[in-house]
Amino acid sequence: MNSLLATPIAYLKGVGPQKAQILQEELGIYTFQDLLFHFPYRYQDRTVFHQISLLRPEDQYVQLKGRITHISESGSGRHKKLHCQFTDGSGSIELIWFQGFQWLKTGFSVQDQYIVFGKPKFYQNQWTIAHPEINKVTPDTLLKGFQAFYPSTEKCQSKGLHSRGLSKLVGQLLEQLKGKIPENLPAYICEALHLMPKPHALHEIHMPSNEQLLKAARYRLKWEELFFLQIELLIRKGSRAKKLSGYQFTEVGAAFNEFYQQHLPFELTGAQKRVLKEIRKDLGSGQHMNRLLQGDVGSGKTLVALLSLLLAIGNGLQGALMAPTEILANQHFIGISELLEKMNIKVALLTGSTKKKERAVIHEGLLKGEINLLIGTHALLEDTVQFNSLGLVVIDEQHRFGVAQRAKMWRKNKLPPHVLIMTATPIPRTLAMTFYGDLDVSIIDELPPGRKPIHTIHRRENHREKLYGFIKEQLDLGRQAYVVYPLIQESEKLDFKNLEDGFAQINDFFEGTNYQISMVHGKMKAQDKDAAMQAFVERQTHLMVATTVIEVGVNVPNASVMVIESAERFGLSQLHQLRGRVGRGAEKSYCILMTGDGISKEAQKRMDTMVASNDGFVLAEVDLQLRGPGDLMGTQQSGALALKIADLARDGQIVQLAREKAREILDEDEILSLDKNRMLKETMLTVLQGKPNWGRIS
Ligand code: ADP
Ligand code: MG
Repeated sequence: MNSLLATPIAYLKGVGPQKAQILQEELGIYTFQDLLFHFPYRYQDRTVFHQISLLRPEDQYVQLKGRITHISESGSGRHKKLHCQFTDGSGSIELIWFQGFQWLKTGFSVQDQYIVFGKPKFYQNQWTIAHPEINKVTPDTLLKGFQAFYPSTEKCQSKGLHSRGLSKLVGQLLEQLKGKIPENLPAYICEALHLMPKPHALHEIHMPSNEQLLKAARYRLKWEELFFLQIELLIRKGSRAKKLSGYQFTEVGAAFNEFYQQHLPFELTGAQKRVLKEIRKDLGSGQHMNRLLQGDVGSGKTLVALLSLLLAIGNGLQGALMAPTEILANQHFIGISELLEKMNIKVALLTGSTKKKERAVIHEGLLKGEINLLIGTHALLEDTVQFNSLGLVVIDEQHRFGVAQRAKMWRKNKLPPHVLIMTATPIPRTLAMTFYGDLDVSIIDELPPGRKPIHTIHRRENHREKLYGFIKEQLDLGRQAYVVYPLIQESEKLDFKNLEDGFAQINDFFEGTNYQISMVHGKMKAQDKDAAMQAFVERQTHLMVATTVIEVGVNVPNASVMVIESAERFGLSQLHQLRGRVGRGAEKSYCILMTGDGISKEAQKRMDTMVASNDGFVLAEVDLQLRGPGDLMGTQQSGALALKIADLARDGQIVQLAREKAREILDEDEILSLDKNRMLKETMLTVLQGKPNWGRIS
């Protein structure tokens, strides 16, 4: 970092040691640079005020100017509230604080004019704003067209480091740094992409002259942030490819050919063929493959996995297929054994419940290379499981496996086995490019022919009788049905009660019929759970009342109804996963989303999206808009989320552009050694400081 920008924040005029400490602890601001990159989260056009008499219920945020006419407190202890009656001449509104108002209370005066900003609510014939931002009108506050609002905390506020205080410090800093903020993008890039120079952008983002310049400033800073991230990811990917060699599958091999020509159960879809080609190319290259295979539920990933594994086997190596649950591993084992029945390939199953004796036999068979294909659960990761020559590992339903577990598989050999990760939770392209920058991505975007879209409907409690009637009609037709309850935490008593009540209610309804109803939940012993699942698979039971334990991968083609209870409590990808349990056979299938009456806007949008679309990729995009990338990806890879200004949910187009530019530059200048890229190299060196494996660009 430029040494001036690295100056500790305590040296900024107006800060001092005590404030510096609070800035560090509360906001993570240690240096000049940190403050410079503490961006406003909102701007207010100071020239526009709303009138209280003209407020409408649909108004999101409003800015009011007026006086406080009355201050009072109510409640006691933790339930204390502060009420201020506020008027702007056209009408009056109540401002309420529930906590953290001690310092506010003493500062208010009925003499002064205030500007209030917040979200108004009309409740019991009275407009209120809870926890508004409130600032005294001074000549200063009214001067500027735009005011920036900075993220702050309660503790900061009590020490004068509220939004206004921070704004003042930033102003001070910009003054002090005038002419000294370095550019870090070469002119040839800025010119080609019409990017605002960095010093100008930093000035405008804190103190916008007008909306247009603010927009240009934000664009420049987002672009830069995403661009350097992409450079980092591409270098990482490049160095992995260069460094890691892998088994080279020199031929297609007899195993693949025999299967493809004689035992393939159906013509591959175009997408399956394309993806297989991508995989074969990787495997033939002599470099290590680390590929993510995305494909919607039911798109036929298993067959692609099997064909890939046959490539390994045909090249004299072993293959492994790892599933997240025992039920799934079993299903894969049964299905694949059947497909390979007529071939001379030895397949073994290893899970938590494999007996000790059998286990020993498998261990030996693996070491000797007699077992060609091992299918199983996490049990495959144990250190005692050693292969003779493991050529390819396929990991099914990737979201249940962490990066560390992937790495563990890698270490099972002298040469790391190739890795193919399959996921049915599609990730929007921009996220895939960012989070899996070190992975290659293949996409199956086509379902096998003849699939009927699942008819999805959203219903509320008043339809319950009709719902049960509908389930019965389907059972009468010989189908099976699922009713799924949310269990956010398997230990939550309340959730469990919901499940049990539901089970009782359904039992009441179906009393006197011949239909068997079973219940499966996470508190059951694995054995009992599997037995219940198995009974359902074998059609001994007809209705399965369950928690989300059935979410992943279970295949019962005869099931045609999926009822999701309290559907508002599920995220989109989970709903889609659950829905994917039906529609696997020839029959028309239904998914019924049951919710309460007053669900949130966001939940309503999720239901509408489910009803409108069967496409996992469409849902993933909506999910990203609704929840943001952090929630989507989990915290595991949150490192890539330390974005200061860019937003992966909204800036997909910039991600794309930045990616293209980064690639173009690295194609020409792989290690950023050209003179015109000197600035890029310097920035990358500071970005990469302390991160492993960056030797190549130093
Ligand atoms: P997923 O991608 O969800 O893992 P599966 O691999 O379980 O999907 O495949 C779903 C169903 O589609 C299976 O019953 C499978 O046999 C069938 N299938 C796979 N590929 C094809 C194909 N090319 N044509 C017809 N059916 C297929
Ligand atoms: Mg699958």
